[in-house]
Amino acid sequence: MDLHEYQAKRRFHKFGIPVPLGKVAYTPDEAATIAQELGGLVVVKAQVFTGGRGKAGGVKLAKNPDEARTHAEAILGMDIKGHKVHKVLIDPGANIKKELYLSITNDRAARRPLLMCSAEGGMDIEEVNRTMPEKIVRIHIDPLLGLRGYQIVEVASQIDLPRHLWRQFNKICRALYECFTQSDATLCEINPLAIVEENGEEILKALDGKMSIDDNALFRQKELADERDTSAEPPEEIQAREADLSYVKLDGQIGCMVNGAGLAMATMDMTGHFGEAYGIGPANFLDIGGGAGPEKVAAALRIILADPNVKAILINIFGGITRCDDVARGLLTALDEVKTDLPLVIRLVGTNQEEGLKIIEEANLPNTQGARTLYEAAQKAVEIVREGMN
Ligand code: GDP
Ligand code: MN
Repeated sequence: MDLHEYQAKRRFHKFGIPVPLGKVAYTPDEAATIAQELGGLVVVKAQVFTGGRGKAGGVKLAKNPDEARTHAEAILGMDIKGHKVHKVLIDPGANIKKELYLSITNDRAARRPLLMCSAEGGMDIEEVNRTMPEKIVRIHIDPLLGLRGYQIVEVASQIDLPRHLWRQFNKICRALYECFTQSDATLCEINPLAIVEENGEEILKALDGKMSIDDNALFRQKELADERDTSAEPPEEIQAREADLSYVKLDGQIGCMVNGAGLAMATMDMTGHFGEAYGIGPANFLDIGGGAGPEKVAAALRIILADPNVKAILINIFGGITRCDDVARGLLTALDEVKTDLPLVIRLVGTNQEEGLKIIEEANLPNTQGARTLYEAAQKAVEIVREGMN
């Protein structure tokens, strides 16, 4: 689960990281009112779950409330990389001297958190990583020892941070690590962590904030779970979560509906295997889980059909405790409710498979083929997509 910038910064603030204390606006008038309250220069920022808002025109400085209103008018409703803007953050403007980068993530391979820091902040960190990876300092944190003072000193010296900011930097790094662990986060990122001038003094301030929380920890992160903004998440993912399905969208044309994660992966591999030469592959990973009744199958179908890239649907179900005849009936009910013209390839195997296949055959579904093996099913699905390409 991702947090919006304003949510992440509020959380950073709680842990003692200096942030601009702004407010969220849903309308241009609200934006103007907040700008009036804050007084002076403000920055109007789109709140969406994607980076690079600055480049996309989603971050604008405003000298007065009228300008804030105009910018908010332009930014609200804007589409940034497929994310529609529903709210903007109005922050007091900062006098930026330099932009740094600071983040903590999990390094799975090293089995410990990783702190990354760079003097080349503000811009796209992936770009920095590509063109000058040596400009990013990487420090692994021993989860039993925590982030050590000497490690922070090492980072500060490697990025050539001016001496007078080391104390603040130390405090911010510690707070960020505390925030990371206490929140069960998988990412805490400040880009830019800016050196700003305030009242003739240079200080460090988190002008941007990004946090992702481990979904598996939300049961014990009640406060964070309550902050979830589903209106800003991709609709298919919300639908999938609500229907208790695991769904990951991919780039291919074959919509896959499978029960069990292992079988789902095998199905993706097999469609990829036959389709690769033609640029054909799975459109998604979708595990409908065990005991999937008609409602779940219908929900899965709706999610698959919402993807305009899908040209064929491959249904691969292994009936164990869930019997194939039940699955077949569930499928018919679902197909009755969620109409589709797309070709279907259905493979049912396991308990009561003959009964299941018979139910499908007798339903005389248009544009539907059965398959005995996964091999055959994948080949058929690829063949259908190929024909459509010509
Ligand atoms: P992102 O593009 O989505 O990462 O959005 P950011 O919040 O990082 O903003 C992009 C850029 O806008 C920053 O790197 C800054 O250069 C600039 N920016 C953000 N807030 C302020 C501010 O208060 N004052 C000034 N002058 N620039 C700002
Ligand atoms: Mn940023």
